[in-house]
Amino acid sequence: MTTLLWFRSDLRLSDNPALAAALAHGGPIVPLFILDDEDAGRWRAGGASRWWLHHSLRTLAADLAKRGSHLILRRGPAERELDRVAGEVGARKVVWNRRYEPWAVSRDEGLKAALKGRGITARSFNAGLLREPWEVVNGKGEPYRVFTPFWRALRAGLDLPAPSEAPRHIPAPQVWPAGEALGDWGLTPSRPDWAGGLRETWTPGESGGQERLDAFAGRASLAYGEARNLPGREGTSRLSPHLHFGEIGPRQVWRALTAAAFAETGDLTPSGVEVFLSEIAWREFSHHLLFHAPALPEQPLRPEFAAFPWIQDSKGLEAWRRGLTGYPIVDAGMRQLWATGWMHNRVRMIVASFLIKDLLIDWREGQDWFWDTLVDADLANNSASWQWVAGSGADAAPYFRVFNPVTQGQKFDPDGAYVRRWVPELAALPDKLLHAPWTARPLELADAGVRLGVTYPAPIVDHAIARERALAAYALARA
Ligand code: FAD
Repeated sequence: MTTLLWFRSDLRLSDNPALAAALAHGGPIVPLFILDDEDAGRWRAGGASRWWLHHSLRTLAADLAKRGSHLILRRGPAERELDRVAGEVGARKVVWNRRYEPWAVSRDEGLKAALKGRGITARSFNAGLLREPWEVVNGKGEPYRVFTPFWRALRAGLDLPAPSEAPRHIPAPQVWPAGEALGDWGLTPSRPDWAGGLRETWTPGESGGQERLDAFAGRASLAYGEARNLPGREGTSRLSPHLHFGEIGPRQVWRALTAAAFAETGDLTPSGVEVFLSEIAWREFSHHLLFHAPALPEQPLRPEFAAFPWIQDSKGLEAWRRGLTGYPIVDAGMRQLWATGWMHNRVRMIVASFLIKDLLIDWREGQDWFWDTLVDADLANNSASWQWVAGSGADAAPYFRVFNPVTQGQKFDPDGAYVRRWVPELAALPDKLLHAPWTARPLELADAGVRLGVTYPAPIVDHAIARERALAAYALARA
């Protein structure tokens, strides 16, 4: 009997419980991907994510073809398309791995009931998280709102069976249903083609993710504790888009890192790996948070922020988006994002703080820009992180902690490697002036070929004044 295997954000063949269940069931398997923009509504994938999705699907289709199978592509509301394909191939069973976005959770609930009503069994599995949101709760049965006890509880009940290997062969039906051509979906840009930097930086797909993991496990992960805060170095894993699209799963990451660390040091979780695993746990925390607080992308978690006096500042917002604020570390981050679809975590915090606190622009504007431009744009991680910086989220940075973009730059990019890479017009400035070019004397600027306001902007706000303004706004909101 034919089984429909519905791929969603689990674009891999190894450690894929839905695929394993379909294989165990026996009989032909029809792999299906549905571009469900209508179901996702406002949270349909943004531009950079669509580029990634295109390449990831192409790779998945090739990986399936090597196993005698074939990826069917459809577009439209999932319920309609599942129903159609199930009818066309006579499937009595549909399997998938769960998603945690509120629109997907409620859609899937309805879908399961509808399929059951038509005599089709639907079963779902966990491929994307270490543990399910309903499994990690406190003594009162409530979800955690503070990270440290969450992490302790997550870990205490962790059971990581060995991930399944990709199968060598996937049984095919006698006749394949019709599918659409990936190229017809227009997921990649044509004119203008802004994806050149993405192509140079990334290899979407399961094997690309596996290669990144292999490169990071071992030495690099041991050094993560110190290296992760330095944007000028390759100190982090860059696994985020692979994790978001499910080309690799957190259980695989956990096992690979601990095994490699054990081989190098005899310890499963030496300090660098321990810090890294806690970041994987932040991912988990964000997903659980979104599951339990589905308004997270739209509304501040802490109600006092609902009345925050945000400013409408389209010029400031545009300068921020384009990396033209006059603060080198902020501009470097925004340009790295635009060019590569990714930004270092330390710099994400700096640019987010700058938008929210120096410019007093609503965090949702920043969230939207990231949604469109990040290859790892993830509803849970993005909304939880923006609210964390804004101070309105769970276990968030207090609002009065305002990042100083100059001292942050000096501390975390001390030799200026990051700023010089992304803001080349400042490259000839000496290190001590690089993060605050407006403090240079005219001769020093001239020597470096910098003309403030001409070759590089003067700061669009004075940080000291902006900080006071932010604190006053915060006091007003709390009052
Ligand atoms: P590593 O440092 O190697 O970490 C390994 C993995 O842990 C990451 O791939 C990611 O899955 C997870 N992780 C790390 N830090 C965090 C964190 N703070 N919160 C949740 N998960 C984390 N991450 C996204 O995946 N998608 C987003 O849309 C996103 N938006 C963000 C917005 C803001 C304002 C901020 C401050 C952070 C955001 N992050 C987001 C979290 C973090 O910046 C990225 O996960 C990280 O930079 C990805 O690079 P990496 O894979 O090299 O991370």
